[in-house]
Amino acid sequence: MHQKTLVELSADLQKGSCSSEELTRACLDRISKYDGELNSFVTVVEQQALAAAQAADARIKAGTAGPLTGIPFAHKDIFCTLGVKTSCGSKMLDNFIAPYDATVTRKLLEAGAVMVGKTNMDEFAMGSSNETSFYGAVKNPWDAATVPGGSSGGSAAAVAARLVPASTGTDTGGSIRQPAALCGITGIKPTYGRVSRYGMIAFASSLDQGGAFTRTAEDAAVMLGAMAGFDPNDSTSVDRPVDDYSSGLNAPLQGLKIGLPKEYFGEGLDAGVAAAIEASLDEYRKLGATLVDISLPNTHLSVPAYYVVAPAECSSNLSRFDGVRFGYRASEPKDLEDLYTRSRGEGFGDEVKRRILVGTYALSAGYYDAYYLQAQKVRRLIRDDFLRAFGQVDVIMGPTAPSVAFRLGEKADDPVSMYLSDIYTIAVNLAGLPAMSIPAGFSDGLPVGLHVVGNYFEEARLLNVGHRFQQATDWHTHSPQGF
Ligand code: GLN
Repeated sequence: MHQKTLVELSADLQKGSCSSEELTRACLDRISKYDGELNSFVTVVEQQALAAAQAADARIKAGTAGPLTGIPFAHKDIFCTLGVKTSCGSKMLDNFIAPYDATVTRKLLEAGAVMVGKTNMDEFAMGSSNETSFYGAVKNPWDAATVPGGSSGGSAAAVAARLVPASTGTDTGGSIRQPAALCGITGIKPTYGRVSRYGMIAFASSLDQGGAFTRTAEDAAVMLGAMAGFDPNDSTSVDRPVDDYSSGLNAPLQGLKIGLPKEYFGEGLDAGVAAAIEASLDEYRKLGATLVDISLPNTHLSVPAYYVVAPAECSSNLSRFDGVRFGYRASEPKDLEDLYTRSRGEGFGDEVKRRILVGTYALSAGYYDAYYLQAQKVRRLIRDDFLRAFGQVDVIMGPTAPSVAFRLGEKADDPVSMYLSDIYTIAVNLAGLPAMSIPAGFSDGLPVGLHVVGNYFEEARLLNVGHRFQQATDWHTHSPQGF
């Protein structure tokens, strides 16, 4: 059962060949069997999940089910879930029971999807390896000595190990796409504003966007369809109808123009990854697409601009964690100052502190113009590069990450080399564009992800481009040994 995709399971549920309760129990069993090793979950909500599964079964019997009704899934522990611990991977929120549901949580609940638990992640979504979590690192199911990517590493590992057919994630600079690539699954980050951020704990508000992990693009269409939509509770949510992501999946790719930025195929790209990407591009050529060489000349500025903008916004967002209102509070403070400093000093981990320091500095009087404002200008240039490219091509492709999964600890002491894991994904967040990573082969026995970037609100096209590829290839069907 665990090898079936979400869409296959959904058909089984409709036919009555299995119940949601059976399916949910099977997922819970797999989690208890394998997650000791993987550490992909922070919280498992067995009783709640079984109750939700029974309700879903009743709905299926009553004939009021949708495609997600009865499907077990996991939430990244950044989405608020009413009555369930929502830790954001941090000691700061280790005791936080969310008093309300995020909009994404509510939407999936209404669709009848069954949440089995909350997944491990880099602390406050800051990281590319899941090593900054208060709950310890997540292991990559393809090789337990390597990282699953981050920050949504738990969500990616859980789907890759077939513990759940789908999970949610968030992507500020690559946190859905890079772990999807490193774990050999499909991950989609929609256009900024497409999925509500209400109740999604903020890291960098102008970049954060929720999305989904699944094995296939076809499954991702179902998840995204349920998650997307206007939300008056999020002022950056876009009031625009949600496309039917599933209906156009089979459209032929004849005549599709794929842009290949020369900046994505240069120095720093691992040879094995490059070879897998080249082979995938050949596959697209066979499917009728045309490959066009393009340039995104400001690509080299994206990581530096991001590491001003994201820390600046995080320093402001994380100021709410002060030991007073919610979250961790230092014991026996001498006075208010001591309460603030020790609560934050003890509650946050090193990477979060590093970002707060950098961000506070970048926003301080006298430096704001030199750093923050400058980074915002660079951001505009990066966006303009993409707009120019989309005047010429339909989608842009390249590798999702420069290498396959690296070893645990390998980059932990070298923030700059860690930051470079997102070199191909970050510009997309700075521009607010939708993008996806799909399995595209292996290098040294580890998965490679193909990055597909679309124009604004062209999620349906991305999913179509992913689905046709997955009909022609079988990379998405490979599963890690031992699971
Ligand atoms: N790895 C990037 C960072 O550490 C992106 C994280 C994310 O997308 N949440 O900021």
